[in-house]
Amino acid sequence: MERSTIVRVHEGLHARPATRFVKLAKGFESDIEITKAGKSVSAKSSVKLMLLGVKENDTVTVRADGADAIEALEALIGYLKNPLSGLEDHADAPVVSAEAISVESKTPVMPATEQENAGFITGIAASEGVAIGVAYPFFPPEIAADNRMLKPEEIPAELQRFHEAVTHVQQRMEAELKTDNLAESDRGIIAALKDIAADETLLDEATGLIRGGLDALSAMLGASAAVARQFSEIDDPYLNARADDVQAVGRQICLALLGQQDINLEALPDGAILIAEDIGAWDFARAPLKKIGAIVCGHGGATSHVAIIARTHGIPAVLGLGKAVQQLKDVKKIAVDGSKGRVAPEPDEAISADFHQRIEEAKAEKQALEAYRTMIPQRADGTVIEVAANLGALEEIEVAQAAGAMGVGLFRTELLFMKHMHLPSEDMQTETYAALLKAFAPYPVIVRTLDIGGDKPVAGIEFPQEDNPFLGWRGIRMCLDRPDIFKPQLRALLRAAVHGKLKVMLPMISDAGEVRATKELIEVCRQELIGEGKACGEFELGVMIETPAAVFAARQLAQEAAFFSIGTNDLTQYVMAADRLNPTVAKLNDVSHPAVMAAIEMTAKAATEAGIMVGMCGEAAARPDLIAEFIHMGLTELSMSPASIPRAKKLISELK
Ligand code: PEP
Ligand code: MG
Repeated sequence: MERSTIVRVHEGLHARPATRFVKLAKGFESDIEITKAGKSVSAKSSVKLMLLGVKENDTVTVRADGADAIEALEALIGYLKNPLSGLEDHADAPVVSAEAISVESKTPVMPATEQENAGFITGIAASEGVAIGVAYPFFPPEIAADNRMLKPEEIPAELQRFHEAVTHVQQRMEAELKTDNLAESDRGIIAALKDIAADETLLDEATGLIRGGLDALSAMLGASAAVARQFSEIDDPYLNARADDVQAVGRQICLALLGQQDINLEALPDGAILIAEDIGAWDFARAPLKKIGAIVCGHGGATSHVAIIARTHGIPAVLGLGKAVQQLKDVKKIAVDGSKGRVAPEPDEAISADFHQRIEEAKAEKQALEAYRTMIPQRADGTVIEVAANLGALEEIEVAQAAGAMGVGLFRTELLFMKHMHLPSEDMQTETYAALLKAFAPYPVIVRTLDIGGDKPVAGIEFPQEDNPFLGWRGIRMCLDRPDIFKPQLRALLRAAVHGKLKVMLPMISDAGEVRATKELIEVCRQELIGEGKACGEFELGVMIETPAAVFAARQLAQEAAFFSIGTNDLTQYVMAADRLNPTVAKLNDVSHPAVMAAIEMTAKAATEAGIMVGMCGEAAARPDLIAEFIHMGLTELSMSPASIPRAKKLISELK
């Protein structure tokens, strides 16, 4: 018995929708197959289903054979036609890829001189601060296949050993999912891995090899490599990311066969310095951040996800050490200077004394700043200066509030888009923005609309190959060309606006027409929502000033925008024609250069004359040496990494 239908599942059958479809299929006794373009697979394997690559609007046939075939077809075809009916809980609950993601800008790097660097290994200054302490090397061991051939009589016991290892891994993942204090994003990662660990595709491949006489460990390594390869060969970025997940599951099963477990970051002693080649999102999401004294990595740079998390939590970090990190594997004690980007393995007495002194100074500064955390800084004339936080995820709310953030001056929504295997739905975005607004009320929250470009890929959006991605199809340019992506975000913002004081700002503006076009689209969205009977609120619409064009056209833009926020990270690179990611032109990439300061002043003047608010959300907003000048120019809002907030409040309150 079979039926065909056009698939209406948004973005097709991968990740959560595939898991849901398989769960539904497994609820029936019948054998069930799904066919697309002449290729059939079991509907009870999510890996096979994902590899079939069913996209939205594809035609598929579902065939069921068994006592409950009618009911099975009814349910499965019903799901494909209308996925929102029936079993959907959170249709688009975040499913997180285990990839590293980041869009944060650089922390200013203060290179040390050669002489100063004696006894140090240098890397990239990714998060400021100094630390000295016990080294905690995190180098998960490589697992190698020894391709041992089994005697025929050994095969049944080897199969048994393999099944026990698989069951062990499945049970551990099951137990982790039941843990109460698991963040939603981590739950997504573990649930996705657990599905793969229970899927027949990977396990059949491995048991087939064992039956053929190969030892279980080699079979598992071979099977996961083969299945991962299939995922990486598909022309779909969502599914390519599954290759890493398959390898991660394969590794866990191999470790269980060896009677081992990966090093557990939970066991990290208080204040220890974490040293690793790289720390994946999966490990870092579960790391006890409060215990980490500093982070040292071979991979990564000031823009990697490790750097952002470190900065947000005030953990000193030196990244990008390259091969030199291998020399640190057996180190017992290490000193880390996150401000200068260098580390000293087994520091001598002079270095230790210097570090201890700097740590004491930092502690004293932190204590002195404590009094400023909750204060509301004002200019001499009584104008309140809002010192707000730059955030990229809901998980950072607590840290920002603890630092005394007066709202959010920049919520980088691209992280929502980059860390999921699919575009976040309107509902999921609404929930996220509403949660932010509720957390910071009555302070305002400025949400920036999607700012991605050719150099920052997002699953589900195809970018053209560009010679100059920073001058290309990014930010507002891409959004206005892709209403299918932009409208759900604008609708979500309108819906969330009822929950607090929302402001929305547009990135990469270079022409007032872009603001007008966005306003028209917002009106279309508002009318749609009203027609659908959905509640929607109001928000102010502002623009980022981060292109020279926006500076020169600031007066015209001020007629269209309710506020300006100066993005000094991009503004500096565009004014100075110096790529912000290119270390060889880092010297030119200086916000305090008279050219950039003049651009900031022009912007502030245009805003003040037009009577609109002007703030700053680039890294320069936290520069102790420039804050006074910015306030003097007329800026009334500064938004920065949470860790910088107390110091900025102090500086502002001391201004004459
Ligand atoms: C900026 O350009 O200053 C800014 C805040 O945006 P981003 O760093 O995300 O480009
Ligand atoms: Mg920018």
